Amino acid sequence: MKFYKQVMRTFVDLPGHHSLLIHSLVGCNMHCFGCHNYDEIVAKKHEEFFTEEDIIQQIQLNGYFFDAIIFSGGEFLLEKIEPIINFLNRIRSIFHGLIIINTNGTSPDKMKTLINQKLVDGFHIDMKLPYHLLDINEDKEIFQAIMGIEPTQHFLEKLLTSIELVIQQNSPYSQIRTVKYPILSDEFFEEIEYYIKTLNQKYQTQVEYRINEFLDISHSKI
Ligand code: SF4
Repeated sequence: MKFYKQVMRTFVDLPGHHSLLIHSLVGCNMHCFGCHNYDEIVAKKHEEFFTEEDIIQQIQLNGYFFDAIIFSGGEFLLEKIEPIINFLNRIRSIFHGLIIINTNGTSPDKMKTLINQKLVDGFHIDMKLPYHLLDINEDKEIFQAIMGIEPTQHFLEKLLTSIELVIQQNSPYSQIRTVKYPILSDEFFEEIEYYIKTLNQKYQTQVEYRINEFLDISHSKI
């Protein structure tokens, strides 16, 4: 696995915790509107990168500075599941804080495996659109504008399965998040919020839902 050669410390991604943010260089299967990481992390070819050994070393040397590790992307879960399991097991053996994975929700099977093996304490998952209400044919333009892809029905079902998995896991460290894309009307966000609220009621859970303001970083760097 390859990682961006700059890990970041953050206080805001997981409130109440001091996290180490690690970006995977595996790429992404979406190309979202205004993605902060696309040019620098997803699309760029990196000659220099951190390996798994480098990350382990960073944690061993600096682990006392943070109490959570967040894997972000690109889409970290595009890596094969066996290397992910091995890597997270190694991290669990040397680091006693939280492990969080940021995901766009396209790999529910891998999420389920990691939950079952207790290798992840929470997911920060995007619900970019009200997937449950959109039609892959009629709403092609909306998908293309927001996610940069035209999904199949199976793809959409995977996204919804992942959201439901996060709700069922009911971790206090998980978040379901939507960026308030300026090209969408308020109804989109209201429908997503209502959907998450309904799922939380169905499973009697309390997974946090957040609508994040859209930040235009087209003129700034990460
Ligand atoms: S899923 Fe995340 S990393 Fe991938 S393009 Fe969208 S915002 Fe960027």
